[in-house]
Amino acid sequence: MVMEGGTNIYCPECSTIRECKVVKNPRIASYDRDGGNYSVFGDENPIDSEIHYFLRNRECLICCSNFETYELSGETLEYLVSEKALLDKLRNILKSSKLES
Ligand SMILES: [Zn+2]
Repeated sequence: MVMEGGTNIYCPECSTIRECKVVKNPRIASYDRDGGNYSVFGDENPIDSEIHYFLRNRECLICCSNFETYELSGETLEYLVSEKALLDKLRNILKSSKLES
Protein backbone atom coordinates (compact mmCIF):
# COMPACT_ATOMS: atom_id res chain seq x y z
CA MET A 1 0.00 0.00 0.00
CA VAL A 2 1.44 3.37 -1.04
CA MET A 3 0.28 6.54 0.72
CA GLU A 4 -0.41 9.70 -1.26
CA GLY A 5 2.05 12.59 -1.23
CA GLY A 6 5.74 12.59 -0.65
CA THR A 7 8.55 14.11 1.37
CA ASN A 8 11.99 15.11 0.20
CA ILE A 9 14.32 12.45 1.61
CA TYR A 10 17.85 11.31 0.78
CA CYS A 11 17.46 8.26 -1.47
CA PRO A 12 20.41 5.88 -0.99
CA GLU A 13 19.92 4.43 -4.47
CA CYS A 14 19.84 7.81 -6.28
CA SER A 15 22.44 9.26 -3.84
CA THR A 16 20.54 12.53 -3.74
CA ILE A 17 17.42 14.15 -2.26
CA ARG A 18 14.28 12.78 -3.92
CA GLU A 19 10.56 12.90 -3.28
CA CYS A 20 9.64 9.68 -1.49
CA LYS A 21 6.36 8.24 -0.28
CA VAL A 22 5.73 6.37 2.95
CA VAL A 23 4.80 2.77 2.22
CA LYS A 24 3.77 -0.08 4.47
CA ASN A 25 6.69 -1.86 6.11
CA PRO A 26 6.11 -5.61 6.48
CA ARG A 27 8.60 -5.74 9.41
CA ILE A 28 6.36 -3.52 11.54
CA ALA A 29 3.64 -5.49 13.34
CA SER A 30 1.53 -2.55 14.50
CA TYR A 31 1.05 1.05 13.47
CA ASP A 32 -0.08 4.40 14.83
CA ARG A 33 -3.67 4.51 15.96
CA ASP A 34 -4.75 6.76 13.10
CA GLY A 35 -3.52 4.16 10.64
CA GLY A 36 -2.09 6.81 8.36
CA ASN A 37 1.46 6.91 9.60
CA TYR A 38 3.42 3.68 9.41
CA SER A 39 5.84 4.02 12.26
CA VAL A 40 7.09 2.24 15.34
CA PHE A 41 8.06 3.76 18.66
CA GLY A 42 9.48 2.80 22.05
CA ASP A 43 8.82 -0.70 23.29
CA GLU A 44 8.31 -2.02 19.77
CA ASN A 45 11.84 -0.93 18.93
CA PRO A 46 13.62 -4.04 17.62
CA ILE A 47 17.10 -2.56 18.25
CA ASP A 48 17.03 -1.20 21.79
CA SER A 49 13.99 -0.40 23.93
CA GLU A 50 15.79 2.60 25.48
CA ILE A 51 16.29 4.30 22.12
CA HIS A 52 13.03 5.78 20.88
CA TYR A 53 12.45 6.52 17.22
CA PHE A 54 9.94 6.37 14.41
CA LEU A 55 10.63 3.91 11.62
CA ARG A 56 9.15 4.41 8.20
CA ASN A 57 9.49 2.54 4.97
CA ARG A 58 9.95 4.88 2.01
CA GLU A 59 9.63 4.46 -1.71
CA CYS A 60 11.55 6.79 -4.02
CA LEU A 61 9.25 8.27 -6.67
CA ILE A 62 12.15 8.46 -9.15
CA CYS A 63 13.90 5.05 -8.92
CA CYS A 64 11.14 3.17 -7.01
CA SER A 65 13.64 1.71 -4.52
CA ASN A 66 12.40 0.97 -0.99
CA PHE A 67 14.39 1.85 2.11
CA GLU A 68 13.83 2.56 5.79
CA THR A 69 14.24 5.89 7.54
CA TYR A 70 14.55 6.44 11.27
CA GLU A 71 13.38 9.64 12.95
CA LEU A 72 14.90 10.24 16.38
CA SER A 73 15.57 13.14 18.70
CA GLY A 74 18.68 15.25 18.31
CA GLU A 75 19.66 14.27 21.86
CA THR A 76 19.56 10.58 20.93
CA LEU A 77 21.54 11.21 17.75
CA GLU A 78 24.20 13.13 19.72
CA TYR A 79 24.40 10.21 22.16
CA LEU A 80 24.86 7.69 19.32
CA VAL A 81 27.51 9.86 17.65
CA SER A 82 29.45 10.17 20.92
CA GLU A 83 29.23 6.38 21.43
CA LYS A 84 30.56 5.81 17.91
CA ALA A 85 33.46 8.19 18.59
CA LEU A 86 34.25 6.20 21.74
CA LEU A 87 34.16 2.93 19.79
CA ASP A 88 36.47 4.40 17.14
CA LYS A 89 38.97 5.39 19.88
CA LEU A 90 38.85 1.89 21.37
CA ARG A 91 39.39 0.32 17.93
CA ASN A 92 42.43 2.54 17.37
CA ILE A 93 43.86 1.62 20.79
CA LEU A 94 43.36 -2.09 20.06
CA LYS A 95 44.83 -1.70 16.58
CA SER A 96 47.95 0.10 17.84
CA SER A 97 48.41 -2.38 20.72
CA LYS A 98 48.36 -5.26 18.20
CA LEU A 99 50.96 -3.47 16.06
CA GLU A 100 53.26 -2.99 19.07
CA SER A 101 53.15 -6.62 20.18
ZN1 LIG B 1 15.78 7.00 -5.76
